[in-house]
Amino acid sequence: MAENKIPYKIYLDESELPTKWYNVRADMPNKPAPLLNPGTHEPLKAEELYPIFCEELVAQELNNTDAYIDIPEEIQNFYKMYRPSPLVRAYFLEKALDTPAKIYYKFEGNNTSGSHKLNSAIAQAYYAKKQGLKGVTTETGAGQWGTALSMACSYFDLDCKVYMVKVSYEQKPFRREVMRTYGASVTPSPSMDTEVGRKILEAHPGTTGSLGCAISEAVEVATKHEGYRYVLGSVLNQVLLHQSVIGLETKTALDKIGVKPDIIIGCAGGGSNLGGLISPFMGEKLRGEADYRFIAVEPASCPSLTRGKFAYDFCDTGMVCPLAKMYTLGSGFIPSANHAGGLRYHGMSSTLSQLYHDGFMEATSVEQTSVFAAAQQFARVEGILPAPESSHAIRVAIDEALKCKETGEEKTILFGLTGTGYFDMIAYEKFNDGVMTDYIPTDEDLQPGFDAIPRFPGNEF
Ligand SMILES: *Cc1c(COP(=O)(O)O)cnc(C)c1O
Repeated sequence: MAENKIPYKIYLDESELPTKWYNVRADMPNKPAPLLNPGTHEPLKAEELYPIFCEELVAQELNNTDAYIDIPEEIQNFYKMYRPSPLVRAYFLEKALDTPAKIYYKFEGNNTSGSHKLNSAIAQAYYAKKQGLKGVTTETGAGQWGTALSMACSYFDLDCKVYMVKVSYEQKPFRREVMRTYGASVTPSPSMDTEVGRKILEAHPGTTGSLGCAISEAVEVATKHEGYRYVLGSVLNQVLLHQSVIGLETKTALDKIGVKPDIIIGCAGGGSNLGGLISPFMGEKLRGEADYRFIAVEPASCPSLTRGKFAYDFCDTGMVCPLAKMYTLGSGFIPSANHAGGLRYHGMSSTLSQLYHDGFMEATSVEQTSVFAAAQQFARVEGILPAPESSHAIRVAIDEALKCKETGEEKTILFGLTGTGYFDMIAYEKFNDGVMTDYIPTDEDLQPGFDAIPRFPGNEF
């Protein structure tokens, strides 16, 4: 059969690795809406962001015009430690599903952070070092971002203060120790260290925290300590830009074997891996050079794209961050306690939100037991134990492949396998014991979150 000519893994040489990031905003007909000052509701100027973010990262955040931005050589070299990441033809999965579809996945779990997060962590640490800073602060939920940033900071000898959502801090002690091994300090959030943490604890004693809370704490610490800035592992335009290495490598590899995907699928928490994977393909679609179906997959228990409002909202619970226009469930939204699979942020990257709003991308939501069923099926045939987050994409890739089985169509499906799930064994245990449950919030459950979205002229939703 001709298709057997395509190898199980499509390799790239070092000389084929990207030397520039691709900025999809340059090709968007409608640019993502600018960040607003939460006090004045005016677009933020670069100088207003300097107390929070490194200057070069602010420039990248606000750059809607340059399609390509050079990857500094030191970052290119760091990437070579763990990149190119494998692009795999999922022959075993295709066989197990008995589908005529051709399935490929780009695997980002081959580094100690266990995820794609290192692609942006190293860039953000590089610019912090270049600016002469002492260190950075951040939040982490499941722990991959905190781990990635700890690795990047130790490489550049920067101090790293991580505020870890309390429920993860308690459930994932090993993640915490990985971060400490790389020299980071890890504090459960909400904490008594910060004004905003004390306020949240007073209002919600016993809370197990949320990403939104941890962001507020990390921002407060960065702005109150000389020589520190805040860094974020998803959602922001700059993070999508750095993650474009995923899509650029994928496109080069697929072009080498003459394959064009019909459907590109990724899980969506804040949107960084999906945005990075689809960017070069989306660019072609936006320029009218090719067409693809893009599918964002989110948990049914945290459905920001599929059920959220497209509005200006706070990026954090403490409402200290700028306002971003995005699909949001409201900055006070916290997924129900039985939610295990990551992807728990209340909003979505404003770049992806705009692309979705303009009809260039689809979105769907899936329930966690079906996500873990897909994870198990995938692990058993392809060998990799996937992260629960990544398994949202696996679920929909399998569903699309099964549709092809019904119709006999030989579609090419590409999905992002963002990471490994070794630290998610409590969730896997629940699934294996048959005690994992699904919870889909009702409209009434979502309403308080929507009620907390700020209302001001121009922010109708
Ligand atoms: C953080 C993370 C995600 C979700 O974040 P995005 O910014 O939406 O990509 C998905 N998978 C893994 C393994 C992660 O660590």
